[in-house]
Amino acid sequence: MPEALYQQTATELQQGLQEGAFKSVDIVRSLLERIDAVDGDIGAYLHIDKADALAQAEAADARRAGGKALSDWDGVPISLKDAIAVKGQPLTCASRMLENFVSPYDSTVASKLKDAGCVLLGRLNMDEFAMGSSTENSAVKPTLNPWNKECIPGGSSGGSAASVAALECPWSLGSDTGGSIRQPASHCGVVGIKPTYGRVSRWGLAAFASSLDQIGPLARSVEDAAALLELISGKDNRDSTSVPEPVPAFRKALGQPVKGLKVGLPKQYFDNSEGLDPEVREAVMAAARHFESEGCELVEVDLPHADLAVPVYYIVATAEASSNLGRYDGVRYGYRSANASDAIDLYYKSRGEGFGEEVKRRIMLGTYVLSSGYYDAYYLKAQKARSLIRSDFAKAFEQVDVLLAPTAPTPAFRRGENTEDPLAMYLADIFTIPANLAGIPGISLPCGFSKSGLPIGFQLLGKSFDEASLLRFASNFEAAHSFARQSPEL
Ligand code: GLN
Repeated sequence: MPEALYQQTATELQQGLQEGAFKSVDIVRSLLERIDAVDGDIGAYLHIDKADALAQAEAADARRAGGKALSDWDGVPISLKDAIAVKGQPLTCASRMLENFVSPYDSTVASKLKDAGCVLLGRLNMDEFAMGSSTENSAVKPTLNPWNKECIPGGSSGGSAASVAALECPWSLGSDTGGSIRQPASHCGVVGIKPTYGRVSRWGLAAFASSLDQIGPLARSVEDAAALLELISGKDNRDSTSVPEPVPAFRKALGQPVKGLKVGLPKQYFDNSEGLDPEVREAVMAAARHFESEGCELVEVDLPHADLAVPVYYIVATAEASSNLGRYDGVRYGYRSANASDAIDLYYKSRGEGFGEEVKRRIMLGTYVLSSGYYDAYYLKAQKARSLIRSDFAKAFEQVDVLLAPTAPTPAFRRGENTEDPLAMYLADIFTIPANLAGIPGISLPCGFSKSGLPIGFQLLGKSFDEASLLRFASNFEAAHSFARQSPEL
C-alpha cells in the first residue's frame, strides 16, 4: 500500500474508507496539497474550489458515519475535463468563448457520480473545444507531460491524463472524439477507455462532433477504469443516441482467462510507412507476444480502408463541429464582443474574438464541406467511406475477439513541434480515429517506456458493447506488467 493518500488508486481509497482507515476529507486534503505542490508546473487543472471540495468530502464522511453511504465510492474524489458540465462549476472548454460560463446544470455523468457520492474535485485542462492532440490549443495554458515537461501530454484530454499520471487525482473523465482519451492516456502512461458510441450519455458534454464524441474514464489501473465505466454507463432519456443495452458488471471481466482467444493485428497499423516509431512498434509487439504466451492466437487482419480514416474524420468531425459551434453567437451566453456596431457585426466579432485559431479552422473547413456544391463531393463521400471503415471492423471481428494496435505512432512529441503544421498534428490520431468512426470501444494501456523515458501505450479495440472483452485482456496484461502504477518523479 503506498504511504500517501494521493498515491492510492480509487479502489484502494474506497477500501480504506470502508475500513475506516481514513476519511474523505483526509483524501481531499492530501490531493489539494499535492496539486499545490506540483500543478504549478504541470498545469492540469483550470479550476478548483477547495472549500467546496472539502464541504463535499465532509458531507460524504457524515453520510458514511451515519451508515448512509450512497455507494462504495462515497467520498472518493474525481476530476472532470472542462467540457463536462457540473452544476455551479465553471464550464469553459478552455476557450475564451466560455471563460466566464458557470454551468446551470449537471451532465448525466456528473449526476451519476454525485448519486454515488463522489467528490467532484476540479476542472481539467484540454484543447479548446476538444480540438487538438497536445493540449497546446487551450486558450488558458498548456498542460505539460509529467514524465518530461519538454513534451506534450497528448490531447485533447491532456489535463485528464496528466492529473492522473501526476497523482493529482486518482481517476478522471475525459472525452474521445478521435482519440482524445486514448492518445493522452498513452502519452502519460495511464489507462484510458473510449466506450462504445451510445454506452455513456453525452448529455451535458459540450458537443464537438456528436456522432463521434464519447465520455470515458482515465485511471491508474484497469480495475479503476472498469469501475468508473460501470458508474457512468447506461441509457439516458436525455441523450437519444444512448443505447438501452444492459450495463454489465465490468469488474467481473477482470482476471477472466484469455487462453484460446484470438487477437488480431491489423497489418495497416504496423506499417512503418505510416510514421510508426520503431520503439513503439517493438513495445506493442511485445504486448502482442505476451498474449501469445498466454495461449492466445495472433492473427494478422486486414483493414483495407484504414488510410481513409484521417481524411474522413476531418470532414465528418469538422462538419458536425461547424453546426454544433453555431450556438456560440455572443447573444445567448458566452463571450460577447464589446466593439460591435450591429447584430451581424456582433456575431462576427464575438466569434472572431472568442474562438482560437484551430477552432476557427475547423468551423471554416466544416462549413465548406457542407456547402451546396461541395456537400456531395466531400461530406456525402466521407459518409460512404465511413461505412466502409465500419464494415472493415465488422469483418475483422468475424475472425478475432479483439484487435491490438499502437495507440499513437510515436511517444509524446516535444512542445511546439507540431503547432505550426496542423496536418502533422492531425496524424497523431491516425490509429485512434478509426474506432470513433466505427463507434466501437477501445482501451489504451501502458506497455513500456522509450529509451528517453516516455511512456508507450497500446490499444485494444473490440466489438460494439463488448468493453468486457477489452477489460479481460487488459487486466490479463496488467497482471503481468503494471506500468500504470509507476509514477514520474515530480
Ligand atoms: N485530435 C483529434 C482532433 O483534434 C481528436 C480530438 C478528440 O478526440 N476530441 O479532432
